[in-house]
Amino acid sequence: MTAPVLEARGVSRDYVLGGAFRKRRVLQAVRRVSFSLQAGETLAIVGESGSGKSTLARILTMIDSPTAGEVLIGGRKVDARTSGAGKWRNVQMVFQDPYSSLNPRRTVGAILDEPLRLNTRDDAGRRRDTVHDMLQKVGLGPAYYQRYPHMLSGGQRQRVAIARALMLRPGIVVLDEPVSALDLSVQAQILNLLADLRETLRLSYVFISHDLSVVKFFADRALVMQKGVVVEENSCDALFRAPQHDYTRTLLKAVPRVDVEAIRRRVAARRASV
Ligand code: ADP
Ligand code: MG
Repeated sequence: MTAPVLEARGVSRDYVLGGAFRKRRVLQAVRRVSFSLQAGETLAIVGESGSGKSTLARILTMIDSPTAGEVLIGGRKVDARTSGAGKWRNVQMVFQDPYSSLNPRRTVGAILDEPLRLNTRDDAGRRRDTVHDMLQKVGLGPAYYQRYPHMLSGGQRQRVAIARALMLRPGIVVLDEPVSALDLSVQAQILNLLADLRETLRLSYVFISHDLSVVKFFADRALVMQKGVVVEENSCDALFRAPQHDYTRTLLKAVPRVDVEAIRRRVAARRASV
């Protein structure tokens, strides 16, 4: 088996709460989480709100550092404080809320140009071509180049956020509840887009969700997190067929929120066609 593209080894993150007037308390938001992600794989991280998913996502994308443990990308250890930008370019993140994650003062074109401007030596014309190409890949026409985020719907904004994450052609994308803030009909469209991009750009995903019905058809394997701890890890097939942990069973009882059948058909068709 080839080396995993992304690996977490005993990753923990504590937050120190309180201060001058309140008793200090340590919150163990993520506790000794280990996993590995293989090329082309989609690993889901599921758990209810507050279970540590976003904290883990920030560590995987080097926005934050773990208090213990380590993250390896392509077999090499990385650290938010010491690694140069080049090392983590390969891991990008899409945030839950497309309303706060895009700068309202910049056009879509400028937002998508920024990672290229900062990280490549391409001239303006070439960068413009790259941006137009990516707009097309995420299903937005060239007219969107000049638009501002406030002129876009939630789904269109999330398409821009996805495009931005892909500008530097990462191999791995961490998707932190990428559809949770969207209307139901739009959720399915964005999931379909993500499934298409996964195949055409050969991406590996860490897909964070509190909605197991989505995970079932979108991911290969899932980690179930409860209060910072991984309580179950399994292939999605096994997880849905025979959940091992009570907490997983509780999550499974939650009502499906999106049209999962339509997504499943689309994903299956797409996989069969490549
Ligand atoms: P999830 O994404 O699964 O909802 P989070 O990772 O956001 O969970 O949060 C896990 C726990 O860590 C929660 O109890 C949350 O309140 C706490 N937490 C998250 N970020 C911080 C922070 N910057 N400072 C203190 N506590 C935090
Ligand atoms: Mg979260």
